[in-house]
Amino acid sequence: MVDCRECKTRLRADKLEDGKCPNCGSKNLTDPRPFNLMFQTHVGATAEDDPSSLVYLRPETAQGIFINFLNVLTTSRRKLPFGVAQIGKSFRNEVTPGNFIFRTREFEQMEMEYFVRPGEDEAVHQQWIDECFQWFTRIGLSADNLRFYEQPKEELAHYAKRTVDIQYRFFPERDEEERQWDELMGIANRTDFDLKTHSKKPEDAEGKRLNPDSTDDLSYFDEAAKERFYPYVIEPAAGVNRTVLAALMDAYTEKTNDKGEMRVILKLKPSLAPIKVAVLPLAKNKPEIVGLAKSIKTSLQPAMRAVYDDTGGIGKLYARQDEIGTPFCVTVDHQSLEDEAVTVRDRDTWEQERIKITELKDHLGKRLTDGDVK
Ligand code: ATP
Repeated sequence: MVDCRECKTRLRADKLEDGKCPNCGSKNLTDPRPFNLMFQTHVGATAEDDPSSLVYLRPETAQGIFINFLNVLTTSRRKLPFGVAQIGKSFRNEVTPGNFIFRTREFEQMEMEYFVRPGEDEAVHQQWIDECFQWFTRIGLSADNLRFYEQPKEELAHYAKRTVDIQYRFFPERDEEERQWDELMGIANRTDFDLKTHSKKPEDAEGKRLNPDSTDDLSYFDEAAKERFYPYVIEPAAGVNRTVLAALMDAYTEKTNDKGEMRVILKLKPSLAPIKVAVLPLAKNKPEIVGLAKSIKTSLQPAMRAVYDDTGGIGKLYARQDEIGTPFCVTVDHQSLEDEAVTVRDRDTWEQERIKITELKDHLGKRLTDGDVK
């Protein structure tokens, strides 16, 4: 951590460019000093002054998976290779939170520990790197806004044999191309470091136990080869919030209507859209039309997330759904009472087609899943 003596901004020394304050450009900074990125708290009602009650909120979800490794192994009887995945909150006392939801002090991570035989780690690592990249494109991120970043030796965590980050173009407004990118996900080969460190057995060169507090041995017995060893682990670790931010950025589009007005369309993949279909009555003072629209909405609900809205003119209702990424709007009009059909409007093309009410659920269901993430 460093402070700028001119504008008093607090900064992370490892994120500075040319030793300059990004806020005011001054080089008049304090010397770097260490700080703890982990949040401290106390367990128990009377614990404030009891030093043994001191605990820390987790800064990543990974370690819980290693602690549970034996539990998972003995209850699920898995053979290598296998993975344990987890999603949950992590907490870091970030010095410079900001950039909307890019860096916050409380955030959500999705991590996996994928256990493999030593020797198979490098190939499996590469498979996960490629698969994770593909996954981001499948949820709608453009490949042009994604790239790999191979961590150089001096940046690697002490336990990592190799780490590749997937970066996203989070800052397209920056002039310098290199500064547009930042981390979306990291995929590390953590070797057998964690399982060994959580085990009671391994000793250092002088015969001292690495972890005197451990009561278990987290090694794996391979029945076929009749040998015992510590599996290697490949760790894909992604931020949920940064993934959401990237999906929003790639989905954001502007389109001009025939009246020359600019409209925002959030072109989310249907699987990511919070609402799949909005049912809108063309006349809200006609009880038959309102009743039919509400009953259509109710009949769609078991199959997809549907809403009913009659709080504006049809143009406004469409615009509202486009802005939140709803893939389809269904309009119920006077004619619907006679021909038992409704108008289905597409978010991205604004094209409309007439569909029989009896066929509506299947029609929408098919169009929502066509070409989307399974
Ligand atoms: P950074 O260098 O940006 O601080 P990191 O290298 O410390 O990130 P990891 O420890 O590899 O991040 O965490 C895995 C993922 O968790 C990151 O790729 C990112 O998506 C997410 N993440 C980390 N810190 C934050 C944060 N403060 N707010 C939101 N997401 C975060």
